[in-house]
Amino acid sequence: MKDSYTIERECSNCGSKEQITVSRREVAFELVDINEVVGKNCNNCSASKFITYYQTPDLDFELLKEWATNPELYLMGQDEELLLADEKYLDNILNILDNVSLLDHKRNLLMDALCVIVYDNTIEDNQQKEENLNQRVIVELNKRREKLKQADEWIMDYIKEVVYPQLELTEK
Ligand SMILES: [Zn+2]
Repeated sequence: MKDSYTIERECSNCGSKEQITVSRREVAFELVDINEVVGKNCNNCSASKFITYYQTPDLDFELLKEWATNPELYLMGQDEELLLADEKYLDNILNILDNVSLLDHKRNLLMDALCVIVYDNTIEDNQQKEENLNQRVIVELNKRREKLKQADEWIMDYIKEVVYPQLELTEK
């Protein structure tokens, strides 16, 4: 897995671009501010407004575990559960839910991410939805009812409306 990622900023005034290279961990947790590295002002026109672009990192088990157990760490972007709602993270998410003593808040976000995967693979708009993936995550959610209950208030209503009817929310 590569460990070198680019952060780029583009000057809103003149369009001039500057880049820095950071590690996967640094980009995943937004630990480096490009403006602190290359200076507050554009090197070309001295303006101070920029659009910043981050390469999205692949989160491996160690990074996810670090995030799940450290209250200081946030995943890049605002909607952590949307970033995590990806099949490529599913095994690591389940592993962490079951084997890591993680923070309540992070556990709720992981449960939310599982619901988002089911949502994404149910709705009609998604042309690439995968029934197998959907069924697999439904099974995993059913196994973790208690955790889902604890995450309930984190999960958006429009997600619940689509996902909950597909689950077995009470023990048979
Ligand atoms: Zn500029």
